[in-house]
This record gives sequence, structure tokens and C-alpha cells, in this order.
Amino acid sequence: MAPGLADATHLETRVGFRPVGPDIRPVLGAVPQIEGLVVVNGLGASGLTIGPYAGSIAARLVRRLDTGIDLSPYDPLR
Ligand SMILES: Cc1cc2nc3c(=O)[nH]c(=O)nc-3n(C[C@H](O)[C@H](O)[C@H](O)COP(=O)(O)OP(=O)(O)OC[C@H]3O[C@@H](n4cnc5c(N)ncnc54)[C@H](O)[C@@H]3O)c2cc1C
Repeated sequence: MAPGLADATHLETRVGFRPVGPDIRPVLGAVPQIEGLVVVNGLGASGLTIGPYAGSIAARLVRRLDTGIDLSPYDPLR
């Protein structure tokens, strides 16, 4: 397949995941049952794109600031 790699040295193997929520949407929000716990995950194949925004929302949740959006579709416990 790639003869130019015949003499190459394998250095390491990396694995990445593309986790998604149960309905494809991310999980993003506070978990009321555990004081101070904020979850942001399930960004699927778009995490590089929306990760910084999701992170900023999570940071606002931690700081108990208004996020400016309805997070109910992303409720971690849905
Ligand atoms: C093959 C592939 C292609 C993709 N292509 C795209 C794309 O084209 N566009 C796009 O928008 N998104 C893409 N994604 C999705 C994107 O990479 C992820 O959604 C995004 O990286 C998730 O960001 P994250 O910060 O939530 O998690 P991660 O990037 O996974 O970061 C989590 C970090 O936490 C660290 N960590 C884990 N456990 C611990 C621990 N116990 N202690 C300390 N550190 C820990 C890990 O080492 C890692 O650095 C792709 C994903 C894959 C796998």
C-alpha cells in the first residue's frame, strides 16, 4: 500500500473518540445532584469547531453566569 514506509519506524499509536449524546446532541450543563459538577462532552465529529464555544458556556456555568442560551436540549441527564 505504501512502499515508502517499508523502512519507517513505528513510534506510537494514537486513538481518538467522537462521543455523542443519546440523541446525537452534545451533553452540556450542570448536574444539580452534584454541587459544582458541570459536564461538557459528546461533541461528536464537531468538537474542534464547537469545542471552544462549548467550553466558554461551561465556564460561565461554573461561574454561575448567564449563558444566554437554552441548555435544556443538552441536559446531561436527559
Ligand atoms: C479522527 C477524528 C477526526 C475528527 N475530526 C474533526 C473535525 O474535522 N472537525 C471537528 O470539529 N471535530 C473533529 N473531531 C472531533 C474533535 O476532535 C473532538 O470533538 C474534540 O477534540 C473534543 O474536544 P474535548 O476537549 O472535549 O476532548 P479531547 O480533545 O479528547 O481532550 C480531552 C483531553 O483530556 C485528557 N485527559 C483524559 N483523561 C484525563 C485524565 N484522567 N487526566 C488528565 N487529562 C485527561 C486527554 O488526554 C485529552 O487531551 C474529530 C475526532 C476524531 C477522533
